[in-house]
Amino acid sequence: MELKGIGVSPGIAVGEALIVEREAVPVFRLPLPPEAVEPEVQRVKGALEQSRRQIQAIKGRLAASGGPHAYIFDAHLLMLEDPLLVDRLVSLIRQERVNGEWAVRSVAEQLQGMFDEFTDPYLRETRGDLDDLLGRVQINLGGSPGAPSLSRLPGQYILVASGLTPSDLAELDWARVLGVATDSGSATHHTSILARSFGVPAVVGLGDATRRIAPGTQVVVDGTRGRLLVRPTGPLLEGMRAAQDRERREDARLQDMRALPAQTRDGVVVRLRANAEFPDEAATARRHGAEGIGLFRSEYLLGRSRQWPTEERQYEVYRQLLEHMSPHSVTVRAFDLGPEDLPTGGPSSPNPALGERGLRLLRHAPDAFRAQLRALLRASAHGPLRLMLPFISGGTDLREALDLLEEVRGVLASEGQVMAGKLPIGVNLEVPSAALTADLLLPDVDFFSIGTNDLVQYLLAADRVDPRVSAHYQPLHPAVLRVIRHVVESADAGQVPVSVCGEMAAEPLHALVLVGLGVRELSLTPVAIPRVKQAVRSVSERRVRAAALAALTASTAEEVQGLFAGAFAGALAPPEDGRPEGVVQAEE
Ligand code: PEP
Ligand code: MG
Repeated sequence: MELKGIGVSPGIAVGEALIVEREAVPVFRLPLPPEAVEPEVQRVKGALEQSRRQIQAIKGRLAASGGPHAYIFDAHLLMLEDPLLVDRLVSLIRQERVNGEWAVRSVAEQLQGMFDEFTDPYLRETRGDLDDLLGRVQINLGGSPGAPSLSRLPGQYILVASGLTPSDLAELDWARVLGVATDSGSATHHTSILARSFGVPAVVGLGDATRRIAPGTQVVVDGTRGRLLVRPTGPLLEGMRAAQDRERREDARLQDMRALPAQTRDGVVVRLRANAEFPDEAATARRHGAEGIGLFRSEYLLGRSRQWPTEERQYEVYRQLLEHMSPHSVTVRAFDLGPEDLPTGGPSSPNPALGERGLRLLRHAPDAFRAQLRALLRASAHGPLRLMLPFISGGTDLREALDLLEEVRGVLASEGQVMAGKLPIGVNLEVPSAALTADLLLPDVDFFSIGTNDLVQYLLAADRVDPRVSAHYQPLHPAVLRVIRHVVESADAGQVPVSVCGEMAAEPLHALVLVGLGVRELSLTPVAIPRVKQAVRSVSERRVRAAALAALTASTAEEVQGLFAGAFAGALAPPEDGRPEGVVQAEE
């Protein structure tokens, strides 16, 4: 079986599928080896017993306080002893060799279906008791020794998930993830961004892969071609393994370019920096030859608990990032969150992408924003730190943030804290109104960084995370290129550096378009740096500039794609096409 999706992180991974269903907590469907079956039965029995003791205790407390409703819990106790529940659980684990969490979930689904068919309203209402009880068993299983979690995967797997939240991703032990396949998602979803950053092949937008694949099935994630192969055999499997080996060799070769500059054949230098979400990615960034961090997505510091990180913790993280990247700069973006990411849950918005996000939202969390600014200003004493402001729509937002920064600086100075004389401030240009008025923002900024992930979504009215409109999400649309060109021209006039930090920068063909439009700094996922560097080193600026000029008057994204793919085929050729190893081929 072959499932079609969107390849969002290149490479091939072969391995066993681990299914992750997303509920309040992720529920895993793990294949168990025969020797693990009986211990798993005991683990479930332990969780049932623990639940029984807890309910007895609750009932006892209620009865002792004279509460008349202690009997309600009799129903729970009866259910816990009901063979319908217990025997089903045990036989499911034994027959299907699945983990307890999954067995509880499956039995819950079966029994809930039965309850829904009852005509007696009293019996139907007991369904609530059942949900409550099974929720308790699930929690007890989660706390039991040996419970699987994203940070403690029992082996190396291909994760097959409906979707993963930023908190799941923050917790995930990426060293144990061979590949990722998700039902939903898109190239700019944070799952895809992280998979690329860890060099883990990924395919998203697969529809219903989690339903169609049994746990433990051998699958192949082909992130290069956007497909998931289920149970491949014979020559197909051998072919995939051979391709995997070829890619590894090619990667090793590209690593050799680490020390070389990203310089075009006619001498124009492009600075390549890394995007990072976690502090430990600094090492990956250095390994791939990044000249600093161009975008540190600080919102990941909130983690699964969605707690604002303290000033001290942030100070340490920012300071360490600077030390790791020295002598290069580190650009930290202020928390870029939507209401759904807030510790308190936040007020819901009818259209979250157009609601209170980024800087708009930080106005409602002034203490958290102040703590971040304090941490940044203090860390600025340790190296070239820069601050980037997300989701600015114009001068009003920008000035408000700058005023707050000055206020915080004043407080720190009065406390006698050490700070750099200047903390350069940049705007993440991702809202069209800000990009189109870049010339007006110039006097207040030290740098621009174009966030094409959002800019494309807002310019083309195509949700970046909705696979149904992925065909409309076109980074090479002439409208996008024209806006980028406008920003570059404005920034050049004011001698303000401009970078691109959206996913466009990581795609070699797109990167050449950006260089042609005059962009001289790119910030991208570290693993993509060698390939982009190779593309830049294989072309002349003169030719990419001419092609980009032509692209500005093209009428469709496809035309732009064709133009660049044709003109720079040599520079963009994938390794499989027989390019001899060790040779950086030129396009002219
Ligand atoms: C962007 O919008 O291009 C960007 C870099 O930010 P994020 O992907 O975090 O929204
Ligand atoms: Mg953005």
